Amino acid sequence: MSPVLILLLLLPPLITAVSSPLQASSTTWNYTLQGKDWPGLCQTGLRQSPINVPLAHDDGERAQLKEAGGMDVRMWHPYQKGNVVSLVHNTIQADVSGLGQMVFVNQHGTVGQYEPMQLHFHAPSEHMYGGKQYELEMHIVYKSLDIEGKLGVVSVMFDSREEYSGVNNGKSNTFIESLKVREFVKSMVNGAPSIQQLSIENELPLMRLLQRLDTSQIYHYDGSLTTPVCSEVVSWVLIPDIQAMQKDQIQYFNAMWKDSPQFANGYGNNRLTQPINGRHIYAKSIPINPLPTNS
Ligand SMILES: [Zn+2]
Repeated sequence: MSPVLILLLLLPPLITAVSSPLQASSTTWNYTLQGKDWPGLCQTGLRQSPINVPLAHDDGERAQLKEAGGMDVRMWHPYQKGNVVSLVHNTIQADVSGLGQMVFVNQHGTVGQYEPMQLHFHAPSEHMYGGKQYELEMHIVYKSLDIEGKLGVVSVMFDSREEYSGVNNGKSNTFIESLKVREFVKSMVNGAPSIQQLSIENELPLMRLLQRLDTSQIYHYDGSLTTPVCSEVVSWVLIPDIQAMQKDQIQYFNAMWKDSPQFANGYGNNRLTQPINGRHIYAKSIPINPLPTNS
C-alpha cells in the first residue's frame, strides 16, 4: 500500500467520505435495489459479503461449515470521550480509531493483530444465521497490522424481539443509547436528518458491550466490504450472541432508513446475501442441532 493510501485510511470519516479508495462516495450508490445495481467487483467478485451462515438443517451449503475449535477473538477498546458519530455512506458511523486492538486467531492458529478504525450499523442485518435475519447488525472495522490493505470486521447483532430481548418492549441497550441515534432522527426534515455529525461527551461503552459477548461460538470466512467498491479484503469474524435492545431503539434506526420513503423505497441499508461460491465458513464448533428452516 502506498503512503498516500495509508494516509487516506487514517483520515477522519467525513474526509474519507469523499476520498477513501475503499469506499465509493455514497452519492453515487444507494440501497434502492439492495445492491443489485452496484458495479465492478460488487457484480463480478466471487468472495462477496454478506452471506447466510448455512446453519439450517436442510441448507445445501452446510458442507461448507468447517470446525476450527482453536479460533478466538479478543477486542480491546479503552474508554474514550468525545467520539464522533456521523452519517456517512448511508449509515451511522462512530470513529473508534486511535487506541485499541483486535486479535484474531484463525483456523490455522495464526494470530492476526488489528487496529480499530470505525464502527457502523445496518438495519436489518446483512449476515444471516440459518436464514434468520436480525433487526440490527454492527460492524466494527479494523485494519490489519500484519498484511497491508487487509481489514478485519467483527459483526455483532442486536434484536428487540421477544426471543432475544424478553417481553415488555425489551431491555434498553446502553451502548446503542450512547450513540444518540435519536438526535439524528429528531433533526429529520422531509425524511432526512438535518444534522450530519455529533460528538459524544460521555464515553462510548463499547468495551462494556464487548466484555459481555459470549465468544464461545464464532464464525469466520473471507469476504468483502458490503458497500461499493466491494473490495475482497475482509477477514470476517461473526459473533452470534444476539444482543438485547428496546423496540424504540431499533425504531430510531429504521426511521432514517427502512421506514423513510426518501431512503430506499422501503428497504433498509442492508446488502442482500451473496453466494458462498465454495468458500469455507469456519465455526468454533459445528452446532449439533441445526436450526429449523424458516418457512
Ligand atoms: Zn458494514
